Amino acid sequence: MNHSDHREIGQRLDLFHQQDDAPGAVFWHPRGYALYGTVENYIRQRMRAAGFREIRTPQLLSRRLWEVSGHWDKYRDNMFTLSHGSAEADRVYALKPMSCPGHVEIYRAGLCSYRDLPVRLAEFGAVHRDEASGALAGLMRLRAFTQDDAHVFCREDQVVAEVAKFAGLLNAIYTDFGFDRVAVRFSTRPAVRAGADDVWDKAEAALERAANVAGLNYQHQPGEGAFYGPKLDFVLTDSRGREWQCGTVQCDLVLPERFDIAYIDANSARARPVMLHHAVLGSLERFIAVLLEHHAGKLPFWLAPEQIAVASVVDRAAAYARRCVSALEAEGLRAIADVRDERIGRKVADAVASGTPVVIAVGPKEMANDTVSLRRRDGAPKVMALAEAVRELKAKARS
Ligand SMILES: [Zn+2]
Repeated sequence: MNHSDHREIGQRLDLFHQQDDAPGAVFWHPRGYALYGTVENYIRQRMRAAGFREIRTPQLLSRRLWEVSGHWDKYRDNMFTLSHGSAEADRVYALKPMSCPGHVEIYRAGLCSYRDLPVRLAEFGAVHRDEASGALAGLMRLRAFTQDDAHVFCREDQVVAEVAKFAGLLNAIYTDFGFDRVAVRFSTRPAVRAGADDVWDKAEAALERAANVAGLNYQHQPGEGAFYGPKLDFVLTDSRGREWQCGTVQCDLVLPERFDIAYIDANSARARPVMLHHAVLGSLERFIAVLLEHHAGKLPFWLAPEQIAVASVVDRAAAYARRCVSALEAEGLRAIADVRDERIGRKVADAVASGTPVVIAVGPKEMANDTVSLRRRDGAPKVMALAEAVRELKAKARS
């Protein structure tokens, strides 16, 4: 087995598994779901701070809606459909392969004035796509996954500022996850496309201006845009030099038209908003696979499923080890007690092997003095007061 493959890492760290009963789907184990939750909550906080409001839209949507969006025509082969009762069109449903149409319907539910724009919506959208079984690959390529899907509905004059702001956010987020090489690709109109040329001219110019305002260094990819509009793709390079396309900013000229959504402009007339499709990570599952391989399973402290293992050196220190865990957990840290009847060397080795970045050893001396012996990855042990260790580790988790 390949030790740097996320499937191998996932098994070794007890994060998740897959089985034939659910091809292209994931069984997240407690440790893996702790990691998943940390990634999700981090993105949630970042998006909230950037002015996005979180929503949730239905999994099953009628054929009628997919006809309006154009997916029924262009994407039906990749959609899981089912009919309910009769086979009439209004009784045929599809599991959503993306969340965009649902977001349009939420935008439509509140008629906007030009003053209310931009409307920024975000969802951790569980989506299903019928990928060929030969294409499935661990968490990298799934049939059931979660997109960090966000949409901005705005006026034309707001596009540059919105895109520039989001591009800045993307770069800050990738840095936090430990990626410092981010390439940006600017994809323009493809041969087969919807929308008139003058509309494409405007959309491409706006995206390019935004990329310049954000100070992005981008490469042109002529003809690689989506059929509904131009886009900026953000490509990460991992520790092994491989490239992963994750973030995207797409300027959509088609969906607002097809769904006939509007806002009321300054002259009380109906006007068409622009729709921007945003994603930071793309698929959460795939991003976690990239993270695991990039860090070779040794995740940074803030991401580690278990951040601290508190190991008792002797049996009678077990209660104190548990007390240390409670003190750490009370401050929001993820800690476990290792009170097995094993030698301390074995406990440290097991914690290191399971990717736990900090090990705290406690014996009779620590018990008597309310101290701990704290050992970081690749560091020498250091004795300090329990309260001080908690403070220090809490600060570390935040930084
Ligand atoms: Zn979208």
